[in-house]
Amino acid sequence: MGVSIDRFLLDAMLDLALEQHPYEVVLLLRGRVNRGAILVEDFLVPPLAVAGRSFAEFPLHMLPIDFSIVGTAHSHPSGTLSPSTGDLNSFYGRVMIILASPYTPDRAAAFSSLGERISIKVLD
Ligand SMILES: [Zn+2]
Repeated sequence: MGVSIDRFLLDAMLDLALEQHPYEVVLLLRGRVNRGAILVEDFLVPPLAVAGRSFAEFPLHMLPIDFSIVGTAHSHPSGTLSPSTGDLNSFYGRVMIILASPYTPDRAAAFSSLGERISIKVLD
């Protein structure tokens, strides 16, 4: 099991996180799952996103059901590269990507609903 994502897409997410710093950014990941392998093809800023609201407070349960959503991404302005208990309690989809300050590509990590690290394969 792993997550594949195009480099330009990952860079765009990191750029957004940097722009919103010191606020947290919450993104929905669209893509496909094939035999446990997750391909992220696009991301979107969810409706109701309010700057300053943390991921754990975000009302993901209010989103319309969309089966192309494979997971979420959010930033950690604190720089922590692991999910909090609140993050895991509000897990949505198959994968959670955390973008940690200072938002360089090595500061992105993916996790399962159990909080286990999932490898990210960056596609050029
Ligand atoms: Zn978090």
